[in-house]
Amino acid sequence: MKRPLDAPAGAVIGVPGKNRLTLHCTWNSGRPWSRQAAAGATPDLLAQALGSGQLTLPRGRADNALQAEHLRYRWGLPPRHTNLIPMLQYLTIPVTPFQQNCSIVWCDATRKAAIIDPGGDLDMLLAQIKRLGLTLEQIWLTHAHIDHAGGTGELAQRLQLPIVGPHPGDQFWIDELPQQSVMFGFPPAQQFTPTRWLHDGDQVQIGNETLNVRHCPGHTPGHVVFHAPQIDRAFVGDVLFAGSIGRTDFPQGNPQQLIDSITQRLWPMGDQTVFIPGHGPESSFGRERQSNPYVGGT
Ligand SMILES: [Zn+2]
Ligand SMILES: [Zn+2]
Repeated sequence: MKRPLDAPAGAVIGVPGKNRLTLHCTWNSGRPWSRQAAAGATPDLLAQALGSGQLTLPRGRADNALQAEHLRYRWGLPPRHTNLIPMLQYLTIPVTPFQQNCSIVWCDATRKAAIIDPGGDLDMLLAQIKRLGLTLEQIWLTHAHIDHAGGTGELAQRLQLPIVGPHPGDQFWIDELPQQSVMFGFPPAQQFTPTRWLHDGDQVQIGNETLNVRHCPGHTPGHVVFHAPQIDRAFVGDVLFAGSIGRTDFPQGNPQQLIDSITQRLWPMGDQTVFIPGHGPESSFGRERQSNPYVGGT
């Protein structure tokens, strides 16, 4: 039997210019489409769900907020961020020519934020953080490839921020950031020393919110992912994508290790968990377990 999606799902997510958003909402259990909707809800789907009573929003004001977002979507305006339940929120913004999904993650109650994988486009990211009224306090890294870590040294220096992660296995990738930036035509990337290395089972905290760290080697030896069970989300970097998995043809890449990371460390987070991959759209572990050609049926 499929596990019903009965947890409050979702933060307000907007990808500027892409007209994608998900709103805070409580899904009624057991509706077959709710899994699909939670993994990639459009305002159309949400409005339809509201109208048919399949979706309940937590407060009276929420309905107006949803309608407003729906209209903004229709008119091609970027989504506005509407806080309906104080909890962990995130905003994913593709950066660099590789369209790497950098996520700003914050605690609603304190407005304190961490940034996951600031690969580049720092001014744009900082403008978004300012627009959201957040205080950026930490940098979290999944791994040290240039598109994920390229802006880290500069950002840490500019704002005096601690760098948390990745796992020490990625030290050689950090050392090679300057060469990576030349090879891929990126702006010069500074080397840095993480303030805190991460290991499997560690936790990271921002404001009142805690996320769990899992070490998921295979794409790089020091790759970690950040799991937020309170909103059923996982930030998985280049371990898993919607319909694909990370490359393993880099130095110290390991295909079997990557499969093991996915099946032994991601799947236990639950089919309902929506993941934010390093590139491309979100999906859920349940959907990938069914349909991903690399790990389907596992
Ligand atoms: Zn990578
Ligand atoms: Zn990447």
